[in-house]
Amino acid sequence: ANVEQRRAIRELPDELISQIAAGEVVERPASVVRELVDNALDAGATQVQVKLMAGGVRAVVVEDDGMGIPAEELPLALKRHATSKIRSLHELESVSTMGFRGEALAAIASVSEMAVVSRSEGAAHAHRLDARSGELSPAARARGTSVEVRELFFSTPARRKFLKTDATELAHCLESVRRHALARPDVGFSVWHEGKLVEQWRAATSEQRIKDVLGEDFFTESRTLFAENGPLRCYGRAGLPEAARSRADMQYVYVNGRFVRDKLIAHGIRSAYEDVLHGHRQPSYVLFIEIAPDRVDVNVHPTKIEVRFRDGREMHQRVRYAVQDALAQSRSAEAVAVAQ
Ligand code: ADP
Ligand code: MG
Repeated sequence: ANVEQRRAIRELPDELISQIAAGEVVERPASVVRELVDNALDAGATQVQVKLMAGGVRAVVVEDDGMGIPAEELPLALKRHATSKIRSLHELESVSTMGFRGEALAAIASVSEMAVVSRSEGAAHAHRLDARSGELSPAARARGTSVEVRELFFSTPARRKFLKTDATELAHCLESVRRHALARPDVGFSVWHEGKLVEQWRAATSEQRIKDVLGEDFFTESRTLFAENGPLRCYGRAGLPEAARSRADMQYVYVNGRFVRDKLIAHGIRSAYEDVLHGHRQPSYVLFIEIAPDRVDVNVHPTKIEVRFRDGREMHQRVRYAVQDALAQSRSAEAVAVAQ
């Protein structure tokens, strides 16, 4: 019959483990952008440059002016489960950095040609580490780090086939930078494609950054949102019904600075619009939620795009009321204006 011959159990080689893990973390060039910009921000960068070739498929290069990596630690940075961000389960509970899994660089390196050039404070010069050869050589750059990722998925044609056109991949990369840029108005971002500057957001106030990234129109068609209840703070901008869109493509939710997709929060927001938005119109909003770290678990998903709240029902209500308030204030302001 159809009985396979049994094969002995073996431990997978490290490289293959990383390639398998990469399947969860690296879906497309935009995932590389997300992970590298996360790292730049964790390193305290004030300027982040993203340079792309062919929508990021040929190359994603992210340069920062952060604290850099000392030469002796460069090889460790590319190792799986190696991180400078947490040391214990206890630290995981209160983690404030974007990263903590120590997986991204290893995963990306396993499905691309990667090199890291970095110079830490006090180093006489920079060092360049070629991921494939492991070769470490002297290099020139100011303090900070450049991570170069070329030929994504060159070794995994099945993955490569799922990539869309360069224009589509570029759009996803830009969206990834936009998500970071909204959360970090204090940091300057620029994006280059094929040697041309395509986006630049200078360090600004939060309000100005929202205008720069989402446009003046969104700003004028949205209202300030703010609510504070004990350890929970929500703020941002709620789009008025006239800012609604046919697609859900202007919905940004952050939990403690991290962009997330959360059905519960999205539902809470949506329900605040139930009387004013009809049919399939999608509200636009930017919502920052700050909550005590012990009330939310960020270690749910390898990309950390999902989180779990200790009290989901309360979150749902708070968010709903916060958005309702923002919309109601705007209506009463209009009523006053009409009455005068
Ligand atoms: P994680 O971010 O979860 O720690 P990564 O694989 O993304 O894991 O990075 C591994 C380590 O390499 C980080 O913990 C950090 O110490 C170092 N690193 C990566 N990118 C940078 C960067 N741009 N600047 C400084 N250090 C970096
Ligand atoms: Mg990281």
